[in-house]
Amino acid sequence: MSAPSRRAAKLTSFFCGLQKVYQNAGSHAKSSASAQQVITRRTLRIAATVAPALVTLAIGVFSLLALAHLAAAGDAVARSRDIKESLHTVLARLTDAETSQRGYLLTGSPEYLDPGAGAAADVHRALAATRRLIADSTEQRQLDTLSSVISEKLAELARTRRAYDSAGLAAAAATVRSNHGQSLMEKSRGLIGRIEATERTRFEQREMHEAELRILTAALIFAAIILAGLLSLLVNTILSRVLAAREIADQRRQKVLVELESVNRRLSEQAQEMKAQTVELEQANEDLRQLSDDLARQREAAERASERVTNVLDTMSDAFISFDRDWVIRQLNREGIRLTNDAGPSIVGRNIWELWGNWIAPELATKLRDGMAGRSVAPFEFEVAPDHWFDIRMNGTADGLAIFFRDVTAERRARVERERLTEQVQAEHNRLLTVVEQSPLAISIVEARSGRRIIWNHAAEEVMGASLGDSISATTSAIKAFHEDGSPLTQGEWPLARAIAGGKVVMDAILEIERPTGERRRVCVNSAPIRDAQGKVDAAVAIFWDVTEQHKAEQELRSARLDAESANRAKSEFLAVMSHELRTPLSAIIGYEELLFDGITGPVNEGQRTQLGRIKASATHLLSLIDEVLTLSRVEAGREVARPERVPVFSALHEASIIVEPLALDKKLALRVLPVPRDLEVWADPTKLRQILLNLLTNAIKFTDSGAVELESRRRDDCVEIMVRDTGIGIAPANHDRIFDSFWQVEQRSTRKVGGTGLGLSVSRRLAHLMHGDIVVQSTLGVGSTFTVLLPARRGS
Ligand code: ADP
Repeated sequence: MSAPSRRAAKLTSFFCGLQKVYQNAGSHAKSSASAQQVITRRTLRIAATVAPALVTLAIGVFSLLALAHLAAAGDAVARSRDIKESLHTVLARLTDAETSQRGYLLTGSPEYLDPGAGAAADVHRALAATRRLIADSTEQRQLDTLSSVISEKLAELARTRRAYDSAGLAAAAATVRSNHGQSLMEKSRGLIGRIEATERTRFEQREMHEAELRILTAALIFAAIILAGLLSLLVNTILSRVLAAREIADQRRQKVLVELESVNRRLSEQAQEMKAQTVELEQANEDLRQLSDDLARQREAAERASERVTNVLDTMSDAFISFDRDWVIRQLNREGIRLTNDAGPSIVGRNIWELWGNWIAPELATKLRDGMAGRSVAPFEFEVAPDHWFDIRMNGTADGLAIFFRDVTAERRARVERERLTEQVQAEHNRLLTVVEQSPLAISIVEARSGRRIIWNHAAEEVMGASLGDSISATTSAIKAFHEDGSPLTQGEWPLARAIAGGKVVMDAILEIERPTGERRRVCVNSAPIRDAQGKVDAAVAIFWDVTEQHKAEQELRSARLDAESANRAKSEFLAVMSHELRTPLSAIIGYEELLFDGITGPVNEGQRTQLGRIKASATHLLSLIDEVLTLSRVEAGREVARPERVPVFSALHEASIIVEPLALDKKLALRVLPVPRDLEVWADPTKLRQILLNLLTNAIKFTDSGAVELESRRRDDCVEIMVRDTGIGIAPANHDRIFDSFWQVEQRSTRKVGGTGLGLSVSRRLAHLMHGDIVVQSTLGVGSTFTVLLPARRGS
């Protein structure tokens, strides 16, 4: 459905809805009003009807009750009257029976018996009737008594008559004269009189009650009528007021309803109109839809076709751009979008000269125009930006121009780089060949697969004394080779063959070769495999040189060294012997000097004492020199033995410092032993350790004019370091190694000033070596030196 028809339909449904709402509202208003009215009227009617009815009913009920009471009272009066009459009948009939019997007795005529005939039955019937009317028990008992008295009276009358009938008047008169009959009669009268009196009293009471009831009933009815009248008046008043109010509300509601109906009418008219419009719009919409469907189908077909073309173009790795004959861009594929800096579909429809006119170089513009004109343009590479190259192909058609282009910057760079590298490799190769050729070392390179010799130089042929041949086998068959022990080399034992076969480097292989002339030469060969990119041995290189002369020289050198060593040993032994021989007389000299000095052999004057002092100093110096020489020679001769044990470092340092303390005091130097861990121990020969420390401390004091000498020690890994530090003259770096040489002293002349033999450090280091340790120096000229003794911290470390 189209948008307008949808709008129309919406409007129609809106108006219909509105109309319904109004209709509902109207009908609702109406129905609710009428319902309310009906309810209210009904209620009022019910109230108006029921209230008087109820009042009337109440009055009726009360009246009925009063009347019932009245009737009951009337009944009671009537009953009293009936009782009175019955009793009266009893008495009358009894009297009749007595009277008729007296008449018969007097006359003897049976007609007189007629009035009394049936009196007995009447009396009993009247008594029974009276009994039914009397409810009171006392009276019932009186009635019983009356009944038996009357029965007795009647029996007495019957007896009298029988006596008359059987025995005559006298017998009957006797019975009558007995007055029994009279008393029974009196008794009956008395009883009846009492019952009557009782009934009379009751009759009067009932009459009074009836009169009261009558008055009460009349009052009640009167009051009820008044009440009903008042109630009717009240109901009527309320009803008329409510009805008046309802009338006003009804009028208002009616007015609203009229308005609602008119609105409703208007709305329904508008809804009708809208409906008509909607129908028209829907028709138009239907037409449009059909048109649009046709168009969509056509567009879809065109899009599918275009999509197929676009997909094909997008899958191309080359960029594609096409222009129509007006140079307007018509299509770009994905790569084209990328290469035009993601300008994307936004540039489709733009003229390329407007878009890229400034950027397109004249040369490219010419080619583009040629292509558009249908002239054939060969593929070409074009620098679109500095060092940014495109490969461009053009295809002019009747519709315009299609261009395929590709960023070949990387390709071009790679190509240029490849060419550069090729040239470089070639140059390197040539240089290498030159180097190889000019190398004094013999070089030969053999291809692994074929054994073909690829490179060899002049030196190689010179060493071999013959042409090497173009293969390794040619060489091995032309030239004999031998191991150092003289055994001949097999073909596979040639270093080149070993490098190819084993893929390993063969270092310093010594061979003896026999030249074709028969001359034997000693050759040292190094050979290594050359691997390709996959690591496979591709070739092998052998570098060799003639070591015949060198070998000879080495042999001579070795024998010279052996000679020197034996000479040194002899020297050491000589020195040991000499030292020993010198030591004995020197000790004696010192002893005699002390005897002389102490005046044991006679008085000695001051001048002699001075001379004796100098003799002692020289002798002592000589003795220490001899001691050191002795130690050195013992060490060199291998006769000095170290007996290491666990030595507490703290005590070793303190002992040494105490010994050299006077020397430090003489020079006014501070001598300090820095804190050492108490449990620090070193694995050393205590005597040799003391000798080393004394040597180092003496040197430190000797070569320090001011400042301090310090001793320090610490554990480092498996070692103990003992540092002797001074603030003395220091040692130039160039002399750090040489000071450990025997008899060597820095600045010989100046150190002579302080004396010394040049053996102290040499001996100390050798002693340290004997204990598997060492001595090293750190020193700065003019600042001071630190000699560090390194010794094992425990056995075997
Ligand atoms: P010397 O008997 O001459 O001391 P040493 O072998 O003990 O022989 O020392 C060799 C030389 O090393 C010394 O003559 C001196 O020149 C130098 N030397 C040794 N110790 C020190 C030091 N603490 N300070 C400066 N120079 C030193």
